[in-house]
Amino acid sequence: MYDGPDDETNAPDPHQPTPGPDAPPPTPTPEAPAPDADAPHADAGDAAAPDADAPEGADVPMHAGFVAILGKPNVGKSTLLNTMLGVKVAPISPKPQTTRRGVRGIWTDVESRRQLVFVDTPGLHAGRTELDQFMTREIRGAVADVEVLLWVVDLRRPPGDEDRDVARLLDGLDPNTPVFLVGNKLDAAKYPEEAMDLYADLGRPPTRRYALSAQRDPAAVYELREDLLDLLPESPFFFPETIRSDQTREQWAGELIRESAMTHLRQELPYSVAVEVRQWVDADPEAGDPLVLQADVWVEKAQHRRIVIGHGGRMIKEIGRTARKQLETFLDEKVFLDLEVVVRPDWRMDPEALRELGYRS
Ligand code: GDP
Ligand code: MG
Repeated sequence: MYDGPDDETNAPDPHQPTPGPDAPPPTPTPEAPAPDADAPHADAGDAAAPDADAPEGADVPMHAGFVAILGKPNVGKSTLLNTMLGVKVAPISPKPQTTRRGVRGIWTDVESRRQLVFVDTPGLHAGRTELDQFMTREIRGAVADVEVLLWVVDLRRPPGDEDRDVARLLDGLDPNTPVFLVGNKLDAAKYPEEAMDLYADLGRPPTRRYALSAQRDPAAVYELREDLLDLLPESPFFFPETIRSDQTREQWAGELIRESAMTHLRQELPYSVAVEVRQWVDADPEAGDPLVLQADVWVEKAQHRRIVIGHGGRMIKEIGRTARKQLETFLDEKVFLDLEVVVRPDWRMDPEALRELGYRS
């Protein structure tokens, strides 16, 4: 299991307010002081004392549970998750449909021994291709056995058909699972209260309502997170407390690269790009070698390949540059990124191809 771009040395202190998704990477904390050899607990005579080495708070019972984040594409689910965690674990981009995998984010409050596991669902939409079916299965799997359903909506707009689909899906789930309606983009909404009422009326009444801006108001997001922590049942942790995502590092890097491609290509190639990170060679500081990533960008047609490469290779260069900067920010080291554009006809219909990309197991 890969613990994402953070590690123990640069993970933000969970008791401090965490930075938003656009904040600079956390600065490494100074090394913990060496244990004081003169401290009474280091005496040989104390070695047998009960709980001598137990971490503080070990007698506090553990609480843990899953939270599903649902909503139609582009309402800000990934942004909400990223703000909640203080690190970027789910790719965001201005285009809908950029999150294809049910990425989990993990938030552990070490002091109170509580762990939230978030499931970010891909957008809901009518399914035709294998990929669409995969996404629908992902959503159903993602919402099973969760403590809370977070239903994210866009307060700038009244509900549409896709919101009604989500409401219907929610109506069909366990009625005992609370639904928190999260009205997002409050910063840009003209009639937030009216919009909230319309969304709340779509299906079964939400247990709670939140109007916030996932992008602009981290404090409001942290309040929501506190409420979620308060709902957790007693349970052992599902993940080690230092990790924040269950994606492999290759999947994580692949999503960042794909996000960059989607952003640069805009409408030209909706949804038909996939990225497979084929090689990850760690940096060798002694030899002065940076981290080297080799990735294939999959397209369905030769003409798409030409678009992705661009005139004189300009497009692929831009895609690579943006992705590399993102990778360097999150990994906090120099990255050499080698991208190749590969034609893979109909990969979205090909179960084998989807497996290779990690879209199904
Ligand atoms: P998802 O498809 O639901 O995961 O949505 P994303 O998190 O990818 O966000 C979609 C778009 O909405 C992106 O362009 C975000 O920058 C934007 N967005 C997210 N949260 C907010 C917010 O609170 N206010 C505004 N104005 N835009 C937001
Ligand atoms: Mg998303």
